[in-house]
Amino acid sequence: MQWETVIGLEVHVQLATQSKIFSASSTQFGAEPNTQACALDLAMPGTLPVLNQQAVNYAIMLGLAINADINPLSVFERKNYFYPDLPKGYQTSQLEEPIVGPGVVNIQLPDGSHKAIRIHHAHLEEDAGKSLHEDFHGMSGIDLNRAGTPLIEIVSEPDMRSKEEAVAFAKKLHAIVTCLGISDGDMSQGSMRFDVNVSIRPKGEQTLGTRTETKNLNSFRFMEEAIVLEVERQIDLVEDGLKVKQETRLYDSDKKQSRSMRSKEEANDYRYFPCPDLLPVAIAQDHIESIRQSLPELPDAKQQRFIDSYGLSEADAAQLCDDRATADYFEIVAKETDDARLAANWIMGELSAKLNRESIAISHSPITASQLAKLLLRIKDNTISGKIAKQVFESMWQEGSDPDDIIEKQGLKQLSDSGAIETMVDEVLAQNPDMVDEYLAEQVEKKKKKKFNAIVGRVMQASKGKANPGQVNQILQQKLSR
Ligand code: ADP
Ligand code: MG
Repeated sequence: MQWETVIGLEVHVQLATQSKIFSASSTQFGAEPNTQACALDLAMPGTLPVLNQQAVNYAIMLGLAINADINPLSVFERKNYFYPDLPKGYQTSQLEEPIVGPGVVNIQLPDGSHKAIRIHHAHLEEDAGKSLHEDFHGMSGIDLNRAGTPLIEIVSEPDMRSKEEAVAFAKKLHAIVTCLGISDGDMSQGSMRFDVNVSIRPKGEQTLGTRTETKNLNSFRFMEEAIVLEVERQIDLVEDGLKVKQETRLYDSDKKQSRSMRSKEEANDYRYFPCPDLLPVAIAQDHIESIRQSLPELPDAKQQRFIDSYGLSEADAAQLCDDRATADYFEIVAKETDDARLAANWIMGELSAKLNRESIAISHSPITASQLAKLLLRIKDNTISGKIAKQVFESMWQEGSDPDDIIEKQGLKQLSDSGAIETMVDEVLAQNPDMVDEYLAEQVEKKKKKKFNAIVGRVMQASKGKANPGQVNQILQQKLSR
């Protein structure tokens, strides 16, 4: 039997407002527990919510970016449930009348093909607090700093058919929200979290299978792992003649296992009702238009511009436009070096490898865009070779200092004095007569080239990597053809 995977995502994005969605408390990440929770966040009787206009504007921006309708009237509702990190006993959310209606997100797959993923809707809601299970000796602590942080939840239609499509969709949303500047997109701090709905059905079948929902995945990789695991689990069940139960599951990324958390609840389990403390949100058409006029460049347009004006390939442009910070970094380096290809190669190669290895976001890179540009200029003006540049890059990363200072201090300047190079070549030839004889005797073109390169290698070694390789080649060519 051939199985088809069906995936729909619910994506929670923390909005980058200064204060919370219904109170004036700060949303800054990382403060001491409960220092950023006011009476309203603590659910004290008598407090009343006031809607944060910036959160509404950010939701409108998202809606416009995914070609969705913005509802002229949306309604906040109470979603009632009990949990220690939710002191009000309900989450203020939206259900029947969300702020953003149906839209569409275009994704590009690793093989270069494109696909449109429909968005069912997106709604505004508040985040909950956090339960802390460590350091409390058999008890749990509650930190309400996060309670009331504005979220936009983006709900897709079940349009994805593979983990690749799901990851491409998640990455595209990340690119969109960071380009818009409505979220910092920092997944290590929970700024973007994915609930993954998965079902399977026989290939060719039209009706959907029973789905499970795996909640709160906070990286693209964990999302991918959870999908692989869940698809396997469901196929095993069905092939054993059993049925998939509709349920909510949790993925443990350390153990690479998932387990059932609870059977699926329905909307009516939550006793939703319109929040009597908040008026319906009326949005005037001219307000939407003024936001539309001031929208920043979106990822698709940026990618096209990178192809047209910097001559990048579609794949390179797509990778650089994955998030706003990378795209901005690239543009600075490309402009300051006037060499987009070199800039793209270094950013996608050396820099991103290093950032990944040390788990640092590009916005916190110890080497700034201008510093990298300065280093690349030294390759272009032949002060150093590309190989030495990697060594300078390493020192810049460690010491955060200027490339020129490092080149000077470590004596890495490329040797371009042809007299000096010639002396070195002569010495190497004199010390390695066997290599020379073997080279001269060799008849097979390919082998001859290899032997030549070996001698070049010796000269480069003698110069400690500093001789200009082009010049070494040229001088050696002359000497050996005599
Ligand atoms: P609920 O209201 O119970 O949360 P929804 O119909 O709103 O359910 O769907 C929630 C998410 O699950 C959406 O992203 C949707 O695309 C996805 N989904 C719904 N049915 C399936 C299915 N059979 N297989 C995979 N994903 C599904
Ligand atoms: Mg739902």
